[in-house]
Amino acid sequence: MGEIIHEMITEKQITEKITEMAAQINKDYEGKEIHLICILKGSVFFCCELAKRLSVPVTIDFMAVSSYGDSTESQGRLVVKKDLDEPVDGLHCIVVEDIVDTGSTLSLTKKMLLARNPASLKLCTLLDKPARRETEIEAEYTGFVIPDKFVAGYGLDYAQKYRNLPYIGEVEFIED
Ligand code: 5GP
Repeated sequence: MGEIIHEMITEKQITEKITEMAAQINKDYEGKEIHLICILKGSVFFCCELAKRLSVPVTIDFMAVSSYGDSTESQGRLVVKKDLDEPVDGLHCIVVEDIVDTGSTLSLTKKMLLARNPASLKLCTLLDKPARRETEIEAEYTGFVIPDKFVAGYGLDYAQKYRNLPYIGEVEFIED
């Protein structure tokens, strides 16, 4: 099976949106310092572009997590593949995610980080696919709400490919 990528959100639209989101965050965090928690790997492009536009002092840490469905637990299980390097207690944290789909990953990540006593914790996502939501969760900062399509580009992959595309595209799967 092969695939074709159809451009859905242009690089210009993404850049403009990130600039808007950063302006809102700068306003909300005036006089504070922000600790960005970048969820690897999909959020890296977004997190860098966002961080470049923040005018308040910023520190950045990275973590890699996945959630797995488990019929015995309503929200599934969080697997931490790479944890943060530094503690977050007392810090104003913003979790930076590429996309919220069922909501499981972000919800479990939030729960785990809140247990580490940050001064505050907000969620920021470039994309939101509300059609598939299973866990009630809403990010404080959302870039684009998109339909229920599988997308790649701007950090998001399909089979580890396409992360380097400067735009976000819908992946169409083609039978051989
Ligand atoms: P959730 O736990 O909200 O269902 O899933 C979040 C994760 O699923 C995202 O961080 C991302 O890795 C993956 N994901 C969900 N939808 C898409 C999509 O359309 N494209 C890509 N590349 N990954 C997706």
